Amino acid sequence: MPTSTEARTAALPATRDDLRNIAIVAHVDHGKTTLVDAMLRQSGAFSERAEPVDRVLDSGDLEREKGITILAKNTAVQRHTPDGVVTINVVDTPGHADFGGEVERGLSMVDGVVLLVDASEGPLPQTRFVLRKTLAAGLPVVLVVNKVDRPDARIAEVVEETHDLLLDLATEVGADDSVLDLPVVYASARAGRASLTQPADGGLPDSENLDPLFEVLLGHVPGPSADPDGPLQALVTNLDSSTFLGRIALCRIHAGRLRKGQTVAWCRADGDGNTVVERVRISELLVTEALERVPAEEAAAGELVAIAGIPDITIGDTLADPENPTPLPRITVDEPAISMT
Ligand code: GDP
Repeated sequence: MPTSTEARTAALPATRDDLRNIAIVAHVDHGKTTLVDAMLRQSGAFSERAEPVDRVLDSGDLEREKGITILAKNTAVQRHTPDGVVTINVVDTPGHADFGGEVERGLSMVDGVVLLVDASEGPLPQTRFVLRKTLAAGLPVVLVVNKVDRPDARIAEVVEETHDLLLDLATEVGADDSVLDLPVVYASARAGRASLTQPADGGLPDSENLDPLFEVLLGHVPGPSADPDGPLQALVTNLDSSTFLGRIALCRIHAGRLRKGQTVAWCRADGDGNTVVERVRISELLVTEALERVPAEEAAAGELVAIAGIPDITIGDTLADPENPTPLPRITVDEPAISMT
């Protein structure tokens, strides 16, 4: 018989302190790619090789292949802390409304969002849709005011405009005004600098690196809460393809472990929406290192992975424990209420 304390501990999924899954919500040109590059550079990802010519968040339909190492759709940044290395997965989500549920799928992979806003342009209406989804999902938000070095920066006004927008959206989704307690980081992604104190308009953040940003991210966004020893549940949130591997499914592992070569239960929906379960083999497992996908033997709950070997797998399917196949809820998709212009 477990004691009551043991039973309580066992019922709570553990939080992984070595991992953070985030999305960056930004209007185009506000500096998302530059910021992720700067984070990678500070973490030393580029030190042993030439810098990538095409950066991942801009790669679009560019698929560059080297063997089975291909560009990932997310970026993994390693942050060295006194307690060990933390991997920060930055999931690429569209910054604007979309019609295929890509926003919902992106947000379903993360536990927090960086709202990146240009210090001169301020928050623009196109990001409203994604931000509303973020608040509706109850995800914590970190505001990063970028390009504080712009001569036409108007930092205090932009923070105020962002607060107004968040308050508006919180009202729309029925959240309380605690969304305004969000931490604010001032950055020049181009200079690779950040600070928690507001620089002068057009000046540079006082820290010579991005440490303040990393500290706020690790402090404000929780690690994924996931049980690596439970029965496997991995949700397919996106698809990709490779001439070497065929269809690749991008998944978030919610519980258990995935291994290369493992036989799993593939839970999919038939034409009538009924769940069909089939045994299949994972022929290849890929994880993200910096900007690339690389083969791996095993990955555990909380991680974002790519798998190959199931040609007809699709978004919303679950990979589960063959002895105990329990599909996760399929991601529901609704249409955006605003136009994309
Ligand atoms: P994205 O579309 O959000 O990925 O934006 P990019 O990272 O491609 O940046 C758009 C433009 O803004 C580029 O010309 C960058 O060099 C510039 N930029 C990015 N960060 C900063 C910054 O901190 N300060 C200034 N002045 N320009 C920046």
